[in-house]
Amino acid sequence: MSIKSNLQKVRNNLLSNVELVAVSKYHTIDDVREAYEAGQRVFGESREQELRLKYDALPKDIEWHFIGHMQTNKVKYIAPYISMIETVDSIKLMKEIEKQATKNSRTIDVLLELHLAQEESKSGMLPDDCLAMFDEGEWRELSHVRICGIMMMASNTDDEAQIRSEFLKAKELFDLIRQRYFADSEAFRIRSYGMSGDYLIAQECGSNHVRVGSSIFSADN
Ligand SMILES: *Cc1c(COP(=O)(O)O)cnc(C)c1O
Repeated sequence: MSIKSNLQKVRNNLLSNVELVAVSKYHTIDDVREAYEAGQRVFGESREQELRLKYDALPKDIEWHFIGHMQTNKVKYIAPYISMIETVDSIKLMKEIEKQATKNSRTIDVLLELHLAQEESKSGMLPDDCLAMFDEGEWRELSHVRICGIMMMASNTDDEAQIRSEFLKAKELFDLIRQRYFADSEAFRIRSYGMSGDYLIAQECGSNHVRVGSSIFSADN
């Protein structure tokens, strides 16, 4: 199967309101170009240096989403060109994004990464910590950071019921945050969950933004 036909297959599976982020981490510049030529414009990367190489080599109308663990000291490298940072897990990181976005005279879109999975290893904010951050209110002063929604990863398990319950928790929390803090905001609208193994379940559970890598770029699909 070619990248083009894999991409088409994934697209055919998606509801019309679901945005597809093609996760190109570990795949080559030529692979990204092939997906680009098949019409894909939004790509996800998880490492700053790999992203930089691809950004430099590829067309500038690509929207790059950062989906890896974001270290505070790396924000300055991606701030000039990143479209969205999906993995924001602290007010400290948000303030650094504010600082670097301001330096570059831009506004950077972000998602709050939530930890809803059972696994300890997963990153993100616990729901209570996230709500506490919103209540505290400092985020309201950040005029170069636009909070566009939430992101999460389900537990890495074959237990579909478990995955489903984590996705539904994400949807519930999204609704709560929107109602409490973003009732008047059009920007807060993204529910980023679902990857190659679980994006069909995710969209049934209210995802409108899936991050799919291996189903598009791996040859054995
Ligand atoms: C790698 C990755 C994906 C894509 O995973 P696939 O299983 O290859 O689709 C999605 N989200 C995050 C945060 C990732 O790191």
